[in-house]
Amino acid sequence: MRVRCALYVEITEEADLLSLDWDALPQPVMVLGGGSNLLFTGDFPGTVLHVGIGVESGMGMDQVQRVFGPGSLLGAGPGPGSVVPRPLGGTVGGPGPKDEIEPGPKSGWTRSTDGKDLLITVPAGVVFDDFCALAAEEGLWGPENLSLIPGECGASAVQNIGAYGVEAKDILAGIRAYDRQEGRFVDIDPADCQYGYRTSRFKTEWKGRFVITAVTYRLSKEPRPILDYGGVRKALEAQGVRETAQGACPPPDKYRGRGPLDTSPGGTKETMGGAEAERSEAESRWAVSLTPQLIRDTIIDIRRKKLPDPEEIGSAGSFFYNPVIDREHFERIVAIAKADNGPDYAVPHYEVGDRIKVPAAWMIEQCGFKGRRLGGAQVYQNQPLVIVNASGEASPEEIIGLEKQVIDSIAAKYGITLHPEVEHV
Ligand SMILES: Cc1cc2nc3c(=O)[nH]c(=O)nc-3n(C[C@H](O)[C@H](O)[C@H](O)COP(=O)(O)OP(=O)(O)OC[C@H]3O[C@@H](n4cnc5c(N)ncnc54)[C@H](O)[C@@H]3O)c2cc1C
Repeated sequence: MRVRCALYVEITEEADLLSLDWDALPQPVMVLGGGSNLLFTGDFPGTVLHVGIGVESGMGMDQVQRVFGPGSLLGAGPGPGSVVPRPLGGTVGGPGPKDEIEPGPKSGWTRSTDGKDLLITVPAGVVFDDFCALAAEEGLWGPENLSLIPGECGASAVQNIGAYGVEAKDILAGIRAYDRQEGRFVDIDPADCQYGYRTSRFKTEWKGRFVITAVTYRLSKEPRPILDYGGVRKALEAQGVRETAQGACPPPDKYRGRGPLDTSPGGTKETMGGAEAERSEAESRWAVSLTPQLIRDTIIDIRRKKLPDPEEIGSAGSFFYNPVIDREHFERIVAIAKADNGPDYAVPHYEVGDRIKVPAAWMIEQCGFKGRRLGGAQVYQNQPLVIVNASGEASPEEIIGLEKQVIDSIAAKYGITLHPEVEHV
């Protein structure tokens, strides 16, 4: 089902934000990224503003003027900006010809170094995974575990997106934004953003205040593989990838011959003889360093098996936050789970300091909601933390109805109130 807003505005350059007549816009004004974490519960009475900076095929100011007609609420700002994504390149460890900051009034990608890491500034409207793809292609470390998270770079800094042991905050180096309160552009230090599990100050006390126009990420040429979350290491091993002392490993076929030889102990022919040496020779012909690309591809494979493809079926990803509870409460849940599943049953959980995080997906499944439908809305069969628009025509009422059923059942069974991660508008 479609919902409508009073006005949709797409800006393509920072200057557009200065030329907007904010007071004349239908209120409230909300900033839209890719919309992948939003649930519109009905028509929106105000203005939806999309930051299309960095988007090659954005509507453009002149088109917005055409769409909204003469006397449109946008001033006569400069024309649409254009950005051609380009290799990140550069070297880490000192400025060189490739490392100079690229100035330019256009909202393009820029890069610099802080002497150690490579700093890449990306316009807010760029699809976050396009940035991940470029970083991996260039062999730069940092965002590879965040591969395939839908949405745009601007939102990555709002949401503190996270997956497989990495969060946006781990790679954020700076945020440029328009401060609606002060009417000027500001550079925000990520240290001031109070980042937490899928949250930030942008979602709390700064809600609605800043329009993010660019995000600077920190990338490294030094290997920084993070493999111990969500079955990444197991998936690498299943492909025949074996981590060695130097992080070198025989890769799957598609990586054959693309990297340096495995020179770790036991990894070369010279150190052995006979059949072992032959096997090792075969392996060393395959050998390649553990690369960001290899990890990215592995994570993409895992995600595709678990999560609905946004191109095919609508969802907003994880619908609920995973609750964090005290140990006493956890023990009560363990008792319920053992009564349901037998005395040897183990409840999945993670220690968070002296508290315990229990996967909401597990509780949803235990309450029998896996695959459950309400009209066009459905709890996703492969990952019950996700509610999908199974029919493509689910109404907000159906999605909210199913959400309420889940919340009520879990509260009744476990005494836990789930909170939606998806933002209801
Ligand atoms: C299939 C699927 C899988 C997902 N997997 C993950 C996952 O693994 N990890 C994870 O963390 N999330 C995940 N998500 C959620 C979603 O991808 C993220 O929350 C993402 O950051 C949303 O980006 P977006 O551009 O679509 O933002 P939107 O949903 O459009 O907006 C999100 C919030 O950011 C604000 N915002 C957006 N752009 C700007 C801007 N330029 N300036 C100021 N505010 C802005 C909006 O106002 C809103 O409050 C998943 C979603 C889907 C559909």
